Amino acid sequence: MTQETGGFASLGLHPTIVAAVIATGYEEPSAIQQQSIPIILAGHDMIGQAQTGTGKTAAFALPILSRIDPSKREPQALILAPTRELALQVATAFETYAKQMPGVTVVAVYGGAPMGPQLKAIRNGAQIVVATPGRLCDHLRRDEKVLATVNHLVLDEADEMLKLGFMDDLEVIFKAMPETRQTVLFSATLPQSIRAIAERHLKEPHHVKIQTKTQTVTAIEQAHLLVHADQKTSAVLRLLEVEEFDALIAFVRTKQATLDLASALEAKGYKAAALNGDIAQNQRERVIESLKDGRLDIVVATDVAARGLDVPRITHVFNVDMPYDPESYVHRIGRTGRAGREGRALLLVTPRERRMLQVIERVTGQKVAEVRLPDGQAVLDARIRKLTNSLAPLVGDAESTHGDLLDRLTADIGCSPRALAAALLRKATNGQALTLDAVQAEQPLVPNNAPRERSTSDRPERGDRERRAPMPLGEGRARCRTALGARDGIAAKNLLGAILNEGGLAREAIGRIQVRDSFSLVELPEDGLEKLLTKLKDTRVAGKQLKLRRYRED
Ligand code: AMP
Repeated sequence: MTQETGGFASLGLHPTIVAAVIATGYEEPSAIQQQSIPIILAGHDMIGQAQTGTGKTAAFALPILSRIDPSKREPQALILAPTRELALQVATAFETYAKQMPGVTVVAVYGGAPMGPQLKAIRNGAQIVVATPGRLCDHLRRDEKVLATVNHLVLDEADEMLKLGFMDDLEVIFKAMPETRQTVLFSATLPQSIRAIAERHLKEPHHVKIQTKTQTVTAIEQAHLLVHADQKTSAVLRLLEVEEFDALIAFVRTKQATLDLASALEAKGYKAAALNGDIAQNQRERVIESLKDGRLDIVVATDVAARGLDVPRITHVFNVDMPYDPESYVHRIGRTGRAGREGRALLLVTPRERRMLQVIERVTGQKVAEVRLPDGQAVLDARIRKLTNSLAPLVGDAESTHGDLLDRLTADIGCSPRALAAALLRKATNGQALTLDAVQAEQPLVPNNAPRERSTSDRPERGDRERRAPMPLGEGRARCRTALGARDGIAAKNLLGAILNEGGLAREAIGRIQVRDSFSLVELPEDGLEKLLTKLKDTRVAGKQLKLRRYRED
């Protein structure tokens, strides 16, 4: 075990859980994990203020897995999540951490999938139930005893659950569980409505909030880009083409990610190496020395491995994975701009992590501007610029040293000097055709403006929303109508919650929702619409049948 994983080992977690975490490649607990795990292990109720990206899922999953009894085949922990996507993500995380605990099973319970298999999995003894509130209430209506044995409850993204209109469902769920249970609530924000829930349903909760003190960062130019998680490597490759860097450090979260990215970069011809907690100290020192003297240009590191790294050559920091907290962001970007030089820091942000970006901006007191991923033209320009820069200094005296050779070769081959120069360029560029078509064909473009998933934790701020022109009915979308409107006590969030939960759609699949007094309009994907409407046939919102129908505008 490395020294860093001792961080997890010293928190009191069950040894099999520690082993699973190490196998996952985490090197040390994040701040929220460090603080929450001992509290949850001790059985206390807790309110954790943390957003996606802080490692909050493991902060509750690891201690809960440590506390359940695998020999008891009944639900012991319930995790409530606002959407099907998050529920699936949390369930997968539990499965990963429970890999070395035979007999532990996890079931995800969400709308849009048949109820029978979900209930069967619960009855078959799944110890961990991860559910969206709406669907869980449906199960409770069929069997009110479903939650009778649950003694750990986690509300994940509680503020999002309330925004989606799940307040009433939560109350039903609380009532269906033993009062002696442990309750843990995670929320990015703590509005009055959340505090009220905590007051009613939590017992002397401990509060955990990652303290953030304002930090100043000067001399470092910062920017961020929106990308999807699976596009990070291609985004990094594209950025490297246009960024003029001397040495660069790329931060990722896991050991595996250091190895994967470093080898992807090496494969493209960069002098890159991985630096993580598994690498022996003398080897680490060698990597750092190589970065200092130019034998390496890129190091892909975890936070732990890069601690204290001081290499004046570093002009760029790429935050490929989001840091857990603003302090570690500041710490990371401080690896550049050393010795009074200027530095540049780029942060890749997945749509769900935009909140974390706002926290970083607040804590650092600086706006981290959005930049777009360079397009094919920018890559082409950068390549030509590099070629120009490498040739320009040679032009001065090349004619005196190689002019005669040129004359001889053109004569021998029987070609023009232009044809010969072109052939030499082809050789110098290893046959790369420096044309836009060639660049685009060689690097499938990551969408320049990664589509912004519409997630509730990810909604554009008001300013953003106002800047966006009202959307005409998008391509591939159909408008649907329900006779429920404001006079029925309906708000857009209730419709969104119901459709997400029951329809099993990804959040970005749902377009604009317009609530009028006596009806509402919802934009849904044209593809599979009839099936979706059938799925939503029995859906009720605010106690009334939704009865969503295709709406013909003409
Ligand atoms: P979350 O904030 O729970 O959505 O987690 C964000 C990401 O961080 C997930 O991809 C986790 O797998 C990863 N993660 C959580 N804890 C750690 C850790 N201690 N070390 C490295 N990665 C982690």
